[in-house]
Amino acid sequence: MPRDPRHDILFESVRIGPKTLRNRFYQVPHCTGFGSEKPLSQAHFRGMKAEGGWAAVCTEEALVSPDSDIWPVVCQRIWDEDDAHNLALMAEEAHRHGALAGVELTHGGGHGTARESRWPAIAPSQLASDYSSSVVAKAMELDDIRRVRADWVRAAKLVRDAGLDIVYVYGGHSYLPLQFLSPFYNKRTDAYGGSLENRARFWLETLEAVREAVGDDCAVAVRLCVEALGPAGVELEEGLGFVRLADDLVDLWDVNVGSIIEWSKDSGTSRFFQEGYQLEWTSHVREATAKPIVGVGRLTNPDRMAEIIRSGAWDLIGAARPSIADPFLPKKVEEGRYGEVRECIGCNVCVMKAEGGNHIGCTQNPTAGEEYRRGWHPERFEPAENRDRDVLVVGAGPAGMECAIVLGKRGFRRVHLVEAEPEIGGIARWIPKLPGLGEWGRILNWRTVQLSKLANVEVLTGLRLDAEGVREYGAEIVVVATGSRWATDGVNFVTHEPIPGADAALPHVLTPEQVMLEGKVPPGERVLVFDAEGYFMAAGLAEKLAADGFSVELATPHERVAPVCDETLEGPLLRQHLHGLGIGLRPGTMLTGIEAGRVTATDEFGEPLELKADAVVLVTQRQSDDTLYLDLKAGADTLAEEGIEALYRIGDCVAPRIIAEAIFDGHRLGREIDSENPAIPLPYKRERLVLEPVTTA
Ligand code: ADP
Ligand code: SF4
Repeated sequence: MPRDPRHDILFESVRIGPKTLRNRFYQVPHCTGFGSEKPLSQAHFRGMKAEGGWAAVCTEEALVSPDSDIWPVVCQRIWDEDDAHNLALMAEEAHRHGALAGVELTHGGGHGTARESRWPAIAPSQLASDYSSSVVAKAMELDDIRRVRADWVRAAKLVRDAGLDIVYVYGGHSYLPLQFLSPFYNKRTDAYGGSLENRARFWLETLEAVREAVGDDCAVAVRLCVEALGPAGVELEEGLGFVRLADDLVDLWDVNVGSIIEWSKDSGTSRFFQEGYQLEWTSHVREATAKPIVGVGRLTNPDRMAEIIRSGAWDLIGAARPSIADPFLPKKVEEGRYGEVRECIGCNVCVMKAEGGNHIGCTQNPTAGEEYRRGWHPERFEPAENRDRDVLVVGAGPAGMECAIVLGKRGFRRVHLVEAEPEIGGIARWIPKLPGLGEWGRILNWRTVQLSKLANVEVLTGLRLDAEGVREYGAEIVVVATGSRWATDGVNFVTHEPIPGADAALPHVLTPEQVMLEGKVPPGERVLVFDAEGYFMAAGLAEKLAADGFSVELATPHERVAPVCDETLEGPLLRQHLHGLGIGLRPGTMLTGIEAGRVTATDEFGEPLELKADAVVLVTQRQSDDTLYLDLKAGADTLAEEGIEALYRIGDCVAPRIIAEAIFDGHRLGREIDSENPAIPLPYKRERLVLEPVTTA
């Protein structure tokens, strides 16, 4: 299918100062967990997006000074030639594929935890950080201001010499330049505080110095949160005032909303924020500048993108998450391969995986972060050496579907994906029915389209296979992907035992599957959802049951409700949302017994407690559905008689994990099924720092 001419506008080139972007797709700075620690992963991760058609790819925070250390958040640092030398690898990869490379030069100011450097944080005024409340910065003296400006200039020259094309004077996420601009942080009474002109002075002077230093070798970009959606920033009018003041010094305005403390409103999840949601604020920036503008908002729909460009609001479509979920999004749109686009689901598992020293990963794209260390290419699959075999994949949940797709693409003679239920999807079929999680339906949608395109993959539904059925099936390779189910007896992380009285065969005790799939309705009016898991399931069920008219309480032994959702930036908004719906929240509560109409528990201090509930929904832990695999394994010595050469298991039937890991597991087996022992993942390449030249003796 050729590209829709309405989308041609997305492929016009755009000039930013001395540089030219080949189209309007721009990967804005985003975290990976790579920073300067994993320069090869960094280079190949960004390089893959360049290959996929993005006109520019940018690093995460690149700290210009040591007193900006926010460890264990892994950042770039640009302190010396070695740092710049390592980053040159990324520029090379970007250039090899025709993209520009950008670097988010910044300074965290008053948020610097200094866990590594042991330098005190510095900020416009001595105020405790709203991000790390135990950090109280040194109020910057004029010497500090001059020194940071010089650091910025030094870093800019270093990255210019390393071949980077775009340098930021980054003030997004309430970093130092914005801390000067915002009266929330800046209480100074000297030339750097007070009026807008004074508060803008640090940023303007730094911009001027950086611009002078890089001359026409680099484009200079600014990221500004035009609306903090909280106290930690400036109001829109002041933001526009700053744009007017700085406009002459800037080649590209990168605009967003939120702050570091309100990051949940910048990297908004689909549960709370619609595609394009930031336009409400960032579309106003055009009133203050004619320079190129890039904005974000989890955009994956090319119609919407083209509309935004045509409206004049932005010149470039910025993306972090859509570029992680599909590095080839621009190429696919360019070539009219719309159905191929692997759309971001807005789950923020990438955030969970990139922060705190972790390695980025993505629910939708299992190859994200694996470009260097495993050598995976999201669009390229090598023919398997054993592709003359038939493979039977039992269970079409996320793991089974993904594995069948990879096996199909690797050219197996026939891949049979067999599912017991009338429809494929496993857990991905019904989780999108939980309130707010509709976009998660893209997990199944994308895989359904892929499966339908692979002539060598046959999908069979409504067929529950037992060990005998598998043996008789006639495939040489068997992959079991039968998933997991929530415990029916309340076994949990606190006691490692069932909860007395918990038995989902009783009418007043329910599991998530019973509520969502089997139509079991709680008796009475009062439902207690008990959550020992801490992620989205209990909160989702509580909201659903409240919408169904029940009076709902959510109890958890955790110190707060849904703590895992804090890692995806959803926690505070979610708790507020549940509270707003009238759902009672009881953290620190452990159930000790369940009877019809009466539940006993202990509170956070271990004191006994009685709760009034007509029914209890148990979200305590999942258990692998491994019967089929273990039955087959028990008869392993006779499998060969039926022509079965190999037996593997993947996904939740190995161990119940988040969907991203189940998909990864299926993908991994598909990639490595012709290795020596596919049951054991191949070792992956460790990072090697590339320290040539070395600046210190
Ligand atoms: P995962 O996340 O590991 O993919 P899911 O629980 O989402 O796991 O999916 C497992 C799928 O396997 C479900 O759709 C389930 O109906 C299916 N399944 C389980 N046992 C069998 C079986 N014996 N035969 C066919 N399909 C099965
Ligand atoms: Fe999107 Fe989720 Fe992937 Fe992040 S992890 S890019 S939010 S699909």
